[in-house]
Amino acid sequence: MDKSSKHSVTRDGESQGFYIETDCCLTCGQPIEIAPELFDWGEHACFLKRQPKTNAEIDRAIRAMWVSEADCIHYAGNDARILKRLGQAGMSYVADDPRAASFPYHARDCVTFTLPIVLIGPRTAEEIAEEFRVHERQRGRTVALPMLDHRTVFLSWYEHNFHSVSFQSEGDQTFSATVNLGFGMIGLAWVVDDWLKSKGATEIHWQASGNTDPDETLGTPI
Ligand code: SF4
Repeated sequence: MDKSSKHSVTRDGESQGFYIETDCCLTCGQPIEIAPELFDWGEHACFLKRQPKTNAEIDRAIRAMWVSEADCIHYAGNDARILKRLGQAGMSYVADDPRAASFPYHARDCVTFTLPIVLIGPRTAEEIAEEFRVHERQRGRTVALPMLDHRTVFLSWYEHNFHSVSFQSEGDQTFSATVNLGFGMIGLAWVVDDWLKSKGATEIHWQASGNTDPDETLGTPI
């Protein structure tokens, strides 16, 4: 890796695709936690070990872009699907290709999913919401007691800034969860996504509420 270069390339010299601006590090370390197979610590900043190859690796690279504190992970490639994802997430500024900016913001606030069958029988949306409450409390987050609507979970990871997510049964152990739009929406969507994957949920489809176009669904929030 050329340490004097403004842009880091991967160790095997690939320069197309994802890259890191090397002169802006705040040592957030987030990419290494999210995608240790792709990122590692260099001398003055994290660096990209190699380009993502699988869809799951691309998902994690995009999440690392979203979470990096200095917006220092950029994309120099021309994969239209990645440019669309960045543009729709409001992140066209990290794409070198100006086509990313042509995609309007598209908030995927709703996820549908299927949970593995458990021996105790079918679960309700209220039970799913309570499982999520317990899990988030165990992770140290502030979770409000259930109010009138037991299907909605209010949680906060910073002071008393609560965000909400509402669960709904769609039948046959399929559920949906809708995250409240606004500040913190994508952060909470990632929390829900992590929880679903830790529970072995399948058929995870993120989409904008009311939009059933299969071309607009993703397996991750952005
Ligand atoms: S993502 Fe940016 S701020 Fe975070 S460790 Fe890597 S170079 Fe530093």
